[in-house]
Amino acid sequence: MAIEDPLKDIVALCKRRGFVFPGSEIYGGLSNTFDYGPYGSELLRNLKNRWWKAFVSERADVVGLDSGILLHPRVWEASGHVSSFNDPMIDCKNCRARYRADQYLEDQLGIETSNLDLDGIKKKLLENPDLKCPSCGAKDFTEPRQFNLMFETKMGATAGSDLTVYLRPETAQGIFINFRNVVDTCRVRVPFGIAQIGKSFRNEIIARQFVFRTREFEQMEMEYFCAPGTQKEWFEHWVDFCKSWLEGLGIQSENLRVRSHDPEELAFYSEGTVDLEYNFPFGWGELWGIASRTSYDLGKHMEFSGKKLEYQDPETKEKYVPFVVEPALGLNRLFLAVLCDAYEVEDAGTKEQRVLLKLHPSLAPVKAGIFPLVKKDGLPEIAEKLYKDLAKHWPVDYDTSGNIGKRYYRQDELGTPFCITVDYDSKDDQKATVRERDSKNQERVSLDQMVNYIRDRLDD
Ligand code: ATP
Repeated sequence: MAIEDPLKDIVALCKRRGFVFPGSEIYGGLSNTFDYGPYGSELLRNLKNRWWKAFVSERADVVGLDSGILLHPRVWEASGHVSSFNDPMIDCKNCRARYRADQYLEDQLGIETSNLDLDGIKKKLLENPDLKCPSCGAKDFTEPRQFNLMFETKMGATAGSDLTVYLRPETAQGIFINFRNVVDTCRVRVPFGIAQIGKSFRNEIIARQFVFRTREFEQMEMEYFCAPGTQKEWFEHWVDFCKSWLEGLGIQSENLRVRSHDPEELAFYSEGTVDLEYNFPFGWGELWGIASRTSYDLGKHMEFSGKKLEYQDPETKEKYVPFVVEPALGLNRLFLAVLCDAYEVEDAGTKEQRVLLKLHPSLAPVKAGIFPLVKKDGLPEIAEKLYKDLAKHWPVDYDTSGNIGKRYYRQDELGTPFCITVDYDSKDDQKATVRERDSKNQERVSLDQMVNYIRDRLDD
């Protein structure tokens, strides 16, 4: 069924069914912050687990890390974030609404701005004096100026000697500064990767589109260290690997595309960058950035720290600073993409519509709903035992309220792949009816085989 405004419906579903709540709601909310509810936090965890399994556990050439959010401020000087992690900003002088100037020009003029520097943005604004503030209609903006996106805070409790530190804007630098530690302790050999999952913070000028762009978010990043000269091959490997991984989550191929950055769009240290984009309800948006970062970061940390971050090949004894390929994925954007992709409304042929999340079973927050047909005659006892057996393995729901059709619909909205009804026949045949979410097919399955039955279909 065609859906008029899918993002609006998905945001409503997230709130209604405990996936995502507006942040600090009882205090009137805090602009564009979100809390993940019971089902949302399960979905996030499932996405993280799948990523970790594919990128760390199953790969002999990748190890994991969990570095700090607060790092020495020199880290961000070395990486260039203090001097150049900026976005251009303009304010409306009349109503004080604030805009990210490049995005504002894209929205208003329909032009590509990734190749414009601050002067280019100034020029475009001067060439178009009729541009209005979308909020109040005035044509009176401040000059564009650069705004640093890093959040600052103070460390230490002694007045006067506090140290200004930053909340990390990416997890990558925590990996680079531990390169030596990992090489010295973990018997890794180039080529190898270090991966981590963690929170990052960016004081985005405009946070928007639900959890697509927020100021606090989670990243799943990997730095893959390889010998100079082999980076092109590894870059291609990781682009393919990442795309297949997304498809393996059940994301439809037609909603994914690979976009290479134009040369003028590239960061100065990058030899090539590809964005894996998803077709969100508001248009194509970056999900995953895969960049060939040369030896820039390790080189800068050598320069700023004075420590040797070279690698010596154990066979040839050759010393070099490894080149790096970085796939950087935003967990919250992936969460949104997975929900948008799975969201479907079916006309059930009755007054009610069937809203369902066709989530890959391994991602579904709840794996099975368990329903006794009635709350008497020994059926709850059988269903409760089944609930306890399954709950040892996965999150499962127990529901006794309303007719079975209503209970099915409640689980469909959560993306639960299986609903299991214990009925009067269960007392005799020790079986229950399993109904599959997408096909609505039903099958009788022995109670003592239920764990195996579900495990076989989860494809974890
Ligand atoms: P954008 O151009 O959308 O600001 P970016 O190119 O700055 O993103 P990267 O620095 O490459 O993003 O970060 C890697 C990934 O982290 C992105 O592909 C995205 O999935 C995620 N990400 C970046 N900024 C945010 C944000 N503000 N909110 C949620 N996720 C984000």
